[in-house]
Amino acid sequence: MMAFDYDLFVIGAGSGGVRASRVAAAHGARVAVAEEHKVGGTCVVRGCVPKKLLVYGAHFAEDLSDARNFGWDVPTCGFNWPRLQANVLAAVDRIIDSYTSTLEHHQVEIFRERATVSGPQEVTLASGRTVTAERILIATGARPHIPDFPGCEHGITSNDVFHLETLPKRVLIAGAGYIANEFAGIFNEFGAQVTLINRSDVILRGYDESIRDRLLQISMTKGIDFRFNTSFKSIEKRDDGTLRVDLDGSDAMEVDTVLFATGRVPNTRGLGLEAAGVELDKGAVKVDADNQSSCPSIYAVGDVTNRVQLTPVAIREGQAFADTIYGNKPTRVDYSCIPSAVFSHPPMAGVGMTEGEARNRLGSIKVYQSDFRPMKNVLADRNERALYKMICESDTGRIVGLHMIGPDAPEILQVAAIAIKARLTKDAFDQTVALHPTMSEELVLMR
Ligand code: NDP
Repeated sequence: MMAFDYDLFVIGAGSGGVRASRVAAAHGARVAVAEEHKVGGTCVVRGCVPKKLLVYGAHFAEDLSDARNFGWDVPTCGFNWPRLQANVLAAVDRIIDSYTSTLEHHQVEIFRERATVSGPQEVTLASGRTVTAERILIATGARPHIPDFPGCEHGITSNDVFHLETLPKRVLIAGAGYIANEFAGIFNEFGAQVTLINRSDVILRGYDESIRDRLLQISMTKGIDFRFNTSFKSIEKRDDGTLRVDLDGSDAMEVDTVLFATGRVPNTRGLGLEAAGVELDKGAVKVDADNQSSCPSIYAVGDVTNRVQLTPVAIREGQAFADTIYGNKPTRVDYSCIPSAVFSHPPMAGVGMTEGEARNRLGSIKVYQSDFRPMKNVLADRNERALYKMICESDTGRIVGLHMIGPDAPEILQVAAIAIKARLTKDAFDQTVALHPTMSEELVLMR
């Protein structure tokens, strides 16, 4: 008789949970996973994937306009939101199916219902059934934070954007981080009047200042309105569906949609974790370097631990957990040099220390920059300059940070991040012959 129903019960079938389930099962564990919404989680269902498809869809607005200077007779083109929306949601469904069949192929049992922890080795499903497992993995992700003020229920979050019946003409976006800037770009390209408000006076805190400033300047040139040091007083919904928004620090506004993009909070509410002795830190599951919580049989990976809220990190944590526990291959995630990108218009990307961080931590640094107008933008008569910035340790020349804004910056940065992770120097870049004519050649020509 086996002591437990399963070796591993995973709560949450998002990026981290699916990877951990599949790999643990491949190592021979008897695994079940519970998902209250859809297999795939935030990234696949209401995050990275559908967002990136909207970014592509939105960017055609510029491409179609630029095409004229490249000799194409482009008539005035209409945009059909329901068609893009249906195609995006269908693409998402295909990925959900593929994730589901991968789990099934590995004999992972899927419970399509909410599960809560009812003991260190026991889970209770929404149906009332209880199951036991030697270990439980919490991979419930995070949810959008919504500021609390009168009328906040009239706003939406990034979860809802993909299901809007019609495109709003006037959008107010709260926050100035990843989601705010990405959706500001998307809605602006679709022709909406976009206003972004933030409680502080910066956008994208944590990114290099010169790169952020360039995005702010380009976004303003494109017509996005920024209001800083501003917060909500109230939202009132009118009979015709429009929203009157009263603000602190700025004039009142009338808009069609308010989108909250004010950070994401770990999904631990009502999960029963405290009762099982799992320590939380501001709602996040506290874990050690091996993803183990203060309750020895309960582990956690991904956004619910609030370490680095990025899909590829959650996937690595899920893999490391499964390899360590079930694959006899102790693995820890290396959190250094994690590249990240903002899919704004144009996109930006960065890895390593910003100039400010490097100055504080290393003292003596050298900064190299390339501020250029991409060739395609010149012919298109698009006055948008790209900016690449490389930060090096003075003594050794080792690159400690690379930050970029410009077309395809995330695609270029992913490759450069390998060199930076491998601790290469600027000399190594300079010794590499430029690939001409490209934008990325600027990386080996910086002065
Ligand atoms: P971010 O942390 O990027 O930005 C949050 C913004 O909201 C900031 O401008 C912040 O202001 C403001 N803010 C934070 N808390 C409050 C509050 N209580 N009231 C009012 N304003 C507040 O969060 P996002 O929601 O944009 O994204 C969540 C996470 O999802 C990101 O951190 C990222 O890890 C991940 N993500 C990654 C993407 C990618 O990789 N491309 C895309 C989308 C999301 P300030 O900092 O100025 O004080």
